Amino acid sequence: MRSFGYAKAPDVASALAALATPGTEVIAGGTELVNWLKEGIAAPDRLLDITGLPLGAVEASADGLRLGALVRMSEVAAHPVVAREYPVLGEALLAAASAQLRTMATIDGNIPAAHPLPVLPRGDAAAVQPAGRRFGMRRARR
Ligand SMILES: Cc1cc2nc3c(=O)[nH]c(=O)nc-3n(C[C@H](O)[C@H](O)[C@H](O)COP(=O)(O)OP(=O)(O)OC[C@H]3O[C@@H](n4cnc5c(N)ncnc54)[C@H](O)[C@@H]3O)c2cc1C
Repeated sequence: MRSFGYAKAPDVASALAALATPGTEVIAGGTELVNWLKEGIAAPDRLLDITGLPLGAVEASADGLRLGALVRMSEVAAHPVVAREYPVLGEALLAAASAQLRTMATIDGNIPAAHPLPVLPRGDAAAVQPAGRRFGMRRARR
C-alpha cells in the first residue's frame, strides 16, 4: 500500500478547504475505501477523516427524508420514521452487506462507491420520497 497522510477534519469549513487540495480524499466509514487502498485502486496523497463532523442527522419532514452525510446504514434502518413511512428503504438497507458493515458504512459513502443502495436512485439520493412512491430500482452489487 502506498503511504498517505491523514488528518481529522475539525469542522465543515476546514473540511471543504482541505478538499480543495488535490490528492485529498474523504474517509467516512472506510468499509470500501480501506479495501481500495490495500488493493491500490485508490492512492490518495492524504485522507481527510470526516467522522467527527456534525453530519449524522436523519430529518423527516413533509418534503421527504434528509440523511446527513455521516448517517450509517444501520441508523437509517433503525430510525422509527423510516420504519413507519419508508419501510422499503429500511428493508433494503438490512439486506445490504453484513451487520458489522452496516454499522460503519455511511449512506454518502455508498454514492461515490458507484453502487447505490437498491432503493436509492442515482442523482436523487438526498431526497428519498415517502412510502408509496416508486423508483427505478437498482440491485446492490454484492
Ligand atoms: C464485504 C462488503 C460487502 C458490501 N455489501 C454491500 C451491499 O450489499 N450493498 C451496498 O450498497 N454496498 C455494499 N458494500 C459497499 C460499502 O459498504 C458501501 O459503499 C458503504 O456505504 C460505503 O460507505 P463508507 O462510509 O464506508 O465509505 P468509505 O469507504 O469511507 O468511502 C467510500 C468512497 O466514498 C467517498 N466518500 C465517503 N463519504 C463521503 C462524503 N461525505 N462526501 C464525498 N465523498 C465521500 C470516499 O472518499 C470514498 O471514495 C459492501 C462492502 C464490502 C466491503
